[in-house]
Amino acid sequence: MSTFRVPYTGFALKNAAIKQELMQAFEAVLDSGRYILGSEVKAFESEFAEYCQAKFAIGVANGTCALHLVLRELGISAGDEVITVPNSFIATAASVALIGARPVLVDVGEDLNMAAGSIDAAITPRTRAIIPVHLTGRPARMDEIMAVARQNNLLVIEDAAQAVGAELHGKRVGAWADAACFSLHPLKNLHAFGDGGMVTTNNSDIAAKTAKLRNHGLVNREQCDSWGFNCRLDEVQAALLRVQLRQLDGWTKERRRLAFRYNELLKPYVQVPEEQPGEFCVYQTYVIQAERRDELRSYLVQHGVEALVHYPVPIHLQPAAKELGYTAKDFPITIKACSRILSLPLYPGLTESQQDEVVNWIAKFYQGN
Ligand SMILES: *Cc1c(COP(=O)(O)O)cnc(C)c1O
Repeated sequence: MSTFRVPYTGFALKNAAIKQELMQAFEAVLDSGRYILGSEVKAFESEFAEYCQAKFAIGVANGTCALHLVLRELGISAGDEVITVPNSFIATAASVALIGARPVLVDVGEDLNMAAGSIDAAITPRTRAIIPVHLTGRPARMDEIMAVARQNNLLVIEDAAQAVGAELHGKRVGAWADAACFSLHPLKNLHAFGDGGMVTTNNSDIAAKTAKLRNHGLVNREQCDSWGFNCRLDEVQAALLRVQLRQLDGWTKERRRLAFRYNELLKPYVQVPEEQPGEFCVYQTYVIQAERRDELRSYLVQHGVEALVHYPVPIHLQPAAKELGYTAKDFPITIKACSRILSLPLYPGLTESQQDEVVNWIAKFYQGN
């Protein structure tokens, strides 16, 4: 049990509503005796692909594996450069660095996603790919990013870990680029009860390679075409995810309702994440930008409202990124955002009175201090 009156996460209500279906799905797998790469994974893959408006989906162990496998399949390796953003979860850049390539970072725009206009200046003869991140469930400007990529003959991988169901101009994330990577971590909008991930693509070759690479490079029980990993999604998780996927549109609708309600109520006090034309955001995190953020956060925590910062230290200033040679003078929009962003509780099951409590403390902070 959380000690917060308004905790940052809330699974209880959401799970209770579908507990029976989840238990039945679990029991069916238990009784089947098939726990790895069976009919549940297969069915979830096809349902997930359809949901993302993509031709293929491949279940993997987590979102980081998804990025890692895709980068490998696309042939990216030592000496190559991959353009991504400093304003993301660490796994985006880490996946690039761990295959021996160099993450080249570009600043974000006011939407806190990759600014398409900043890509050109970062392209060198070594650049192979671009990884835009749909941060917080807001779609990156894929139309503009794809145009820059095609002009320069670069591959594009969407980091869609936070954005299942998000759309730009009516097209879902996961259907725009050469491949897309999703996380099914419990904090993501569609989640396993543990770890899970997905790769989507419209390219049959990439789909086949991912399916092989996640399973030891095996084409069948006897034949191994190339060295591979063990990065599979489990049958149990897939079965539970199929139940969850049927609820996702309803949960997204509720997240959006709560986000728009926060927007209206908080607008007088802080900068709110307003949806821009063409965007359909899914609010994996609801992030405001606030003056005196650290003070506000302590004040909220002190009054029983759990608020977090995603992410307090940008990737380029992490000790792990030292060898990339960036400094605090790089990426001014990212740096400025880091001192102002604050993630508020938002999830299906959050009540309006809990939401009002969050709003009232924020109002009181700015009125009284
Ligand atoms: C969560 C996340 C990942 C990693 O996913 P895991 O399933 O935790 O490995 C990668 N990128 C972003 C943007 C994320 O939010």
